[in-house]
Amino acid sequence: MPELPEVETTRLGIEPCLQSQRIRTVVVRDARLRWPVAADLGARLAGAWITGVRRRAKYLLIDTSGGTLIVHLGMSGSLRVVPAATPPGAHDHVDVVLGNDRCLRLRDPRRFGSVHWSAQPERHALLARLGPEPFDAVFDGRYLRARARGRRQPVKSFLMDAHTVVGVGNIYASESLHRAGIHPCRAAARISGERYERLARSVVAVLREAISAGGTTLRDFVASDGSPGYFRARLAVYDRAGEPCVRCGTRIRRLVVGQRATYYCPTCQH
Ligand SMILES: [Zn+2]
Repeated sequence: MPELPEVETTRLGIEPCLQSQRIRTVVVRDARLRWPVAADLGARLAGAWITGVRRRAKYLLIDTSGGTLIVHLGMSGSLRVVPAATPPGAHDHVDVVLGNDRCLRLRDPRRFGSVHWSAQPERHALLARLGPEPFDAVFDGRYLRARARGRRQPVKSFLMDAHTVVGVGNIYASESLHRAGIHPCRAAARISGERYERLARSVVAVLREAISAGGTTLRDFVASDGSPGYFRARLAVYDRAGEPCVRCGTRIRRLVVGQRATYYCPTCQH
């Protein structure tokens, strides 16, 4: 599933191809995504100029002179920029056709992604109530400590809650907790401010490293074929059950927290 680093890598890849381009039309081959794609999307966006591409949580916001296109990649979505004449594959559901005869093409085999239009994206129901970005100045140990007060839920679930902070999905929650030395099941309220400071720094560092690892795949976003431009950053614990901890050699364990597979080192994390 694309997590924040993959979405940010996508943004970095597509923005130079979209910036200042005019939208000729929008082709919707299959509107049955997680939510149906609005039938009037093409009418709204035809002729609009693209002014920038932003990211909020795991949403890509393509700003235009005619409103903002909000794209979520769901479980299996990917975007690339290809010549508009490139024959679409079975899972290429939406094209945003540009004036330069290229198009932004959404491929989504499992169709859990979504495409929306909004004149005020910050107020869109999907975005309005989200917590801060991990790279925002407000996201630090003090913020986490204050927000965790009275919460008995496992810290991993607390960290993955988009009201706490956006964009920390299952993989990077496990990785950040390992780096900070915090057991994923520890109650959120029972972690000191000092340890939360370490956790906040770990989240930011882990995400930044994953984004820079993704930088090497940028060319995939302008290729006409090939696999999605996602990468698997080098992971210390995720999906490594039974393998030695990179720090202490203890075997990594797997357990289920909040119905999600969770990996941790029983020696380093407490
Ligand atoms: Zn360890």
